[in-house]
Amino acid sequence: MRISELFDRGRPVFSFEFFPPKTEKGYDSLFRTVAELKRLDPDYVSVTWGAGGSTRRKTVELVIDIQRQLGVTAMAHLSCVGSTPDELAATLDRLARGGIRNVLALGGDAPPGYAPPPDAFRHANELVDFVRGRWDFCLGGACYPETHKDAPSPEEDLRNLVRKVDAGVEFLITQLFFDDRDYFAFVERARSAGIRVPIVPGVMPVISAANARRMAALSGARIPEELSVRLAEVEHDDALVGDVGVEWATRQCRELLDRGAPGIHFYTLNKSPASQRIFERLIAA
Ligand code: FAD
Repeated sequence: MRISELFDRGRPVFSFEFFPPKTEKGYDSLFRTVAELKRLDPDYVSVTWGAGGSTRRKTVELVIDIQRQLGVTAMAHLSCVGSTPDELAATLDRLARGGIRNVLALGGDAPPGYAPPPDAFRHANELVDFVRGRWDFCLGGACYPETHKDAPSPEEDLRNLVRKVDAGVEFLITQLFFDDRDYFAFVERARSAGIRVPIVPGVMPVISAANARRMAALSGARIPEELSVRLAEVEHDDALVGDVGVEWATRQCRELLDRGAPGIHFYTLNKSPASQRIFERLIAA
């Protein structure tokens, strides 16, 4: 099913993001996790796209296997970094042949010392243009409530986002954030700039204090003072940190949905119990 159609049903769209495991054992375990998640009837799952060659093959295999064998709609992430247009075309052909209908089109992050192939795309909007002309995928894109780390200004970032949506992105998923006010302010700015597509908040339940700080540093997400204090109080005990993380993210999700967010995209980091607990609470409410 095309993900864009899910937003027309008048209920929130819930999705779960995983990354391709490095080992066969990890692959099997992820497969079991998604099979278990299926009991809760998520709308779709997505699988990230890595910087290295072997995990890329796994992204393609995983989304096809998940969709075919488990019957859960699966979206492949795909980034411009490290591939020529011909290589991207080969991947898109494989996804299409495997029955995949949805792709998250990304610019990607260049690893240190990266020299792009001369004809490589630099930005997601170029990838969107490329796909639009040749394949019939439903395309999603990334956006940044707290502004992308490389953008010269929030205004410039928003202008670039408009360009990406105009190229043919049908829904957006935000970078993770811990303060809902950042999401609502961003949505307001995006709407004022003429962006009409659904903007799905990306939520990551904190599972360890160190991990929260690392993810915040990587993504540029601000950790609010209240969350920071609560994490510091329980930092010595991972189970208690997990409880704080679930409680915080559940509160975030409830407010987001109550105030009109079109769904929730869970960044699971392949540790799905926390996201599942939150999802169960939301659908039970
Ligand atoms: P772009 O839309 O290209 O934007 C990147 C930067 O360039 C921004 O600062 C933007 O303002 C600017 N820009 C955009 N278009 C132009 C233009 N035409 N001219 C000049 N400047 C421009 N990374 C992975 O490697 N694999 C993944 O699977 C993955 N999944 C993600 C999923 C989500 C939901 C999100 C939010 C991010 C994900 N990322 C992933 C991270 C993402 O690749 C990085 O944040 C990357 O730095 C930007 O990707 P983008 O698609 O936003 O790029």
